[in-house]
Amino acid sequence: MNDDDLEKIATWLRNADRVAVLTGAGISTESGIPDFRGPNGVWTKNPAAEKTATLQYYMSDPAVRRQAWQNRINSGVFDAAPNAAHRALVDLEHKGGLHTLVTQNIDGLHHAAGQSPEIVIEIHGNVREAKCMACGWRGPMHETLERVRAGEEDPACRLCGGILKSATISFGENLVEADLHRSQLAAGRADLFLAIGTSLAVYPAAALPEIAIRNGARLVVLNAEETPFDPVADAVVRDQLGEVLPAVVALV
Ligand SMILES: [Zn+2]
Repeated sequence: MNDDDLEKIATWLRNADRVAVLTGAGISTESGIPDFRGPNGVWTKNPAAEKTATLQYYMSDPAVRRQAWQNRINSGVFDAAPNAAHRALVDLEHKGGLHTLVTQNIDGLHHAAGQSPEIVIEIHGNVREAKCMACGWRGPMHETLERVRAGEEDPACRLCGGILKSATISFGENLVEADLHRSQLAAGRADLFLAIGTSLAVYPAAALPEIAIRNGARLVVLNAEETPFDPVADAVVRDQLGEVLPAVVALV
């Protein structure tokens, strides 16, 4: 991308009163976390793996749960570190240029990068915690993973014996209404909306730029592949996020 485009987006960021950001899998691929739905995605290459993320199968089939716990202890998600793109968004916040960050990612890397937890909305939940599907207990995921490593193939809730799962939103599971509502409010009040590393194909996240535009916000799409919002965006950036985001934020 040329310097004029960088400067243009930086100027919008400087002049905006309320900036809302939506991030998706694309911001974490440079941290080594696989995209689930992309051309080389985990689910694209192995559709059976999608079962472990589908609530109905998870709740009804112990074999699916045992597989899910094995996936969790072998997953790179818990070892991944934030990359330059995550850090650029922290810098943007410190410069006063970021009001709300909505993420579709469950990897917790915005928190790990040092983003203020109160401005981050993880609409698909997160992997840092385990939750009980019966009594609502929540606790640090690493404690439950220790039980799996110690030999419990499908650890049950210690309070009620219920089924434990990561505190992510599985397929077939409802989003947290309050998180969704906060995200929609932030989009509606934004005067600049950045969609970063997301295909904008999955609703309700994809409704957020729609809400922002309807309320008069500028839209900037930063994504390696085309999105349905490219034709209505004020700027579209295809460059690698770990390079382009720090470059833009440096100009703010
Ligand atoms: Zn319980």
